[in-house]
Amino acid sequence: MPIHTILSGLESSRDAREALYKEFHRHPELSLQEFRTADRIEEELRASGIDEVLRIGRTGIVAILRNGDGPVVAMRGDIDALPMAERSGRDYAAEGATQVDEATGKETPVAHTCGHDMHIVCLLGATQAFHAHRGEWSGTFVAVFQPGEENAAGARAMVQAGIVDKVPRPDVYLGQHVLGSLPGGAVGIRSGPLFSAAASIEITLHGKGSHGSMPNLGVDPIVLGSAIVTRLQAIVAREVAPRETAVVTVGSFHSGTKSNIIPDSAVLQLNTRAFDKGVEKHLHEAIERIVRAECEAARSPKPPEFRYYDQYPLTENHDEPTARVRAAFDAYFGEDSVDMAPVPASEDFSVIPDAFGCPYTYWGLGGCADWKNAPGNHSPFFAPDIHPTLDRGVEAIVVAASPWLIKDK
Ligand SMILES: [Zn+2]
Ligand SMILES: [Zn+2]
Repeated sequence: MPIHTILSGLESSRDAREALYKEFHRHPELSLQEFRTADRIEEELRASGIDEVLRIGRTGIVAILRNGDGPVVAMRGDIDALPMAERSGRDYAAEGATQVDEATGKETPVAHTCGHDMHIVCLLGATQAFHAHRGEWSGTFVAVFQPGEENAAGARAMVQAGIVDKVPRPDVYLGQHVLGSLPGGAVGIRSGPLFSAAASIEITLHGKGSHGSMPNLGVDPIVLGSAIVTRLQAIVAREVAPRETAVVTVGSFHSGTKSNIIPDSAVLQLNTRAFDKGVEKHLHEAIERIVRAECEAARSPKPPEFRYYDQYPLTENHDEPTARVRAAFDAYFGEDSVDMAPVPASEDFSVIPDAFGCPYTYWGLGGCADWKNAPGNHSPFFAPDIHPTLDRGVEAIVVAASPWLIKDK
């Protein structure tokens, strides 16, 4: 059984993988500043005798295992951490970890509270397992260690740095994410939309400042902004079909300094989510239409300004590779192979396969035995179980790649 042979080193490598996981966990780094992380990944790959290792962009790493004729399977693991403090209380927690954010020059707390350190160690483990057992499979395995997932910039950075020209075109592009929302030890997959399309929009509203006692002399951007916040709630309620899922959230509203001054501007920050590109387009058009109309209604002296940022594409699993991976998961994991519901979170995973023009599929890896009570991803308390998750993540990658790379399973 080639899969079992490829995975035969799981037990003997378990302690080393656990130590490596704790090391990455204690050294979290911000998006696109994963310098130490990238160096350590490269070191680990080279130490196990893998020599085709490319740097793509500042902190992207790709390892290529060419092993004769056959399909090319690429597997992505994201490597960045989040700008927040960890409070998991584990003995390997990165409490107090900070890094200077290049964008702001400020010392920023940083923590692996999305589990990308687990993704690194699972992808390293699977790559090393394929390398150690080349006789059991044929084709090409490409491990993509992608930076900057959390700011939606890392996959695009690798595309800009030429990944499409430097790496063989994959027949399928795979990805996984450890999730607090799936039963521990389970793998979950589905065809079609899996993660929502997301965008953040900063809107600057222009008013006219005046003394708080003479509102008639000004244009109050706080009243204007309040009307907009209320009116925006009607987009999902009244303009989106009930069968669709959409979210419009106003996450911040800043204006003014003092009770008796009418300020001259207000800034709103919005976040949108949708599971359909047409619905997302409608949300953005409706937001701009409502904001412009309210500004006009309020006698705003200048048109509003819209700045879109942190834009994530829709992650929509392709049918054919998803069916093949699901069948392989069912055969290997049995009852632990489950359906996954769409998640309103977002991913930049699809940017690279879209640049290659190749199909992709992505699955969830259950990270917590007590998943119903476990803190979710991005919680300061998020702490996936090390075991069996580290093993399961390696197994899932090898099993998912097997329909393409292994002839006699
Ligand atoms: Zn995340
Ligand atoms: Zn993540």
